[in-house]
Amino acid sequence: MSFPVDRIALSLLLLACVILAGLNWLQDHPEDNPWAPLTLDEQPGWATGRKLAALRADLVACRAFLDRSGLPNRPLPPEGAGACRREDRGPLLLPDATLKPQRAEATCAVDAGMAFWLRHVVQPQAEAMFSSPVIRIEHLGTVNCRRIGNGAKGAWSEHATGNAIDVSAFVLANGRRVEVKRDWKGGVDDAAFLHAVRDGACGSFSTVLSPDYNAAHADHLHLDQARRTGGWKACH
Ligand SMILES: [Zn+2]
Repeated sequence: MSFPVDRIALSLLLLACVILAGLNWLQDHPEDNPWAPLTLDEQPGWATGRKLAALRADLVACRAFLDRSGLPNRPLPPEGAGACRREDRGPLLLPDATLKPQRAEATCAVDAGMAFWLRHVVQPQAEAMFSSPVIRIEHLGTVNCRRIGNGAKGAWSEHATGNAIDVSAFVLANGRRVEVKRDWKGGVDDAAFLHAVRDGACGSFSTVLSPDYNAAHADHLHLDQARRTGGWKACH
């Protein structure tokens, strides 16, 4: 008579063991654990993209990510009006590298995306290809109150709210300078580096537009954190 009860107890025990093993595994693999808070040191994994995407819609969570990652996080008061109203603004600061021009403001999501891209894509690529880290990122700007294509009509650019950055060149510790405009189809190493960091940016940003997209992007990589329904990305 006790046989069925024993079988049920054994099944429950096995189930508990499986759940416990799964929870232990998730604890050791935060990159595959959607509930583990994202950190800058987390190796990109199955859940990382979703966690980065969640930061775009949640300013409190985004700023907590910057805090956890040891990145200076000094929000500035809101500014601007209408489509160019910026509720979410702060000085853009990078881990292990400087910006040129040095002063730039951006949304928290751009800050987080740049930090993650630098740590997990740009620096590993620079070390692997040139044996030297990137110490400076040159850019053409972040905030610009304008519509896409600078026209009088049409959708507003993500630059209108500082939710984008145009990266134009990378300067390495060994003095090498890799420029989007000159090197996109230039020397083999420089072109390969630029294409690799462009491809890798899609993991950290919702939009990546390069010289492959159109002539308007011949001299920079446009990286933005547009919020889109369904979470689809534009990587060109
Ligand atoms: Zn742009």
